[in-house]
Amino acid sequence: MVRLRVITPFDPWGSPLCTCPFKYSLNPYTGCSFRCLYCYATSYIGLRDSTPKRNFIRNLVHDVKTLPPGALINIGTSSDPYPPEENLFKLTRRALEVLVPLGFRVLITTKGVLVTRDVDIIARGNVAVTPTVTTLDERVARVIEPNAPKPLERVTAIGVLAREGVPVGVRVDPIIPYVNDDPYDIEELVCRLKDAGAVFIVTSTYKAKPDNLARMRRGLNELDNIGEKIYKLYKERGVKVGGYTYLPRELRESLLRPVIEASKRCGLEYATCREGFTGREWFNARSCDGSHLIPSRIHPSSRRMGAILDRWLEQ
Ligand code: SF4
Repeated sequence: MVRLRVITPFDPWGSPLCTCPFKYSLNPYTGCSFRCLYCYATSYIGLRDSTPKRNFIRNLVHDVKTLPPGALINIGTSSDPYPPEENLFKLTRRALEVLVPLGFRVLITTKGVLVTRDVDIIARGNVAVTPTVTTLDERVARVIEPNAPKPLERVTAIGVLAREGVPVGVRVDPIIPYVNDDPYDIEELVCRLKDAGAVFIVTSTYKAKPDNLARMRRGLNELDNIGEKIYKLYKERGVKVGGYTYLPRELRESLLRPVIEASKRCGLEYATCREGFTGREWFNARSCDGSHLIPSRIHPSSRRMGAILDRWLEQ
């Protein structure tokens, strides 16, 4: 059996509640310069800036040869594919240049507005984009996602993609108690996303890991001293699910209901992620991750594969 080097079967962080379809993960970088307080990936790969993977394209080409035609590949599951470093290294763009002409189904998850640079490739491929926007409040965003683009820049990027015909679903994720859970703010956020061209919303509550909870405790005290409140809430009321600390179900329902109701009012498709909530009350989309949005623009072909991959290896 061929050992994959940079494309791996998606692992939902050990969650028994994941409802994602089978897919592969691809992360051109390790670490992430955006440094979100709530990041789950840091408990697996540590806290460090985005670092390009060595021999990335060569290893990608190696892996692609073993994938079934039209396989679903989610770029950016554990490290954002459009950090500032992508300006220099262009690994994500080069990955798209390999995958798109071959007809792979690609889902890009990002907070980076640099994604609009690649709209020329994205808009002609079997590609959908699911940016993350957790709040419109710049002060809150600066604390919880310190190095990521500002929320309104992300909304503008959604507009650019949507106008070019790229299907966009937005991750309003995570909803964190006391931080971005105000129902009026959520309504405004969802309306702005719809106006920008988003067609689908997926939402989820913050699930604590020891390292991200410690960061939240320290970092969120900058926001009216709520770090301690969140720490206490998760420590006292939290329940363990697959290595994460979840809030009790009724609390999680009350945190996510405003997102779902706003999505319904706006006529957007909606889903919840890793909550264990089922039924149309919480989920009316054909996938939770937005992969159902991926268009069929390029027929997957293994006949083209050899020539395209050889060209990449010669570069
Ligand atoms: S953008 Fe994603 S991978 Fe990067 S720090 Fe934030 S949550 Fe983690």
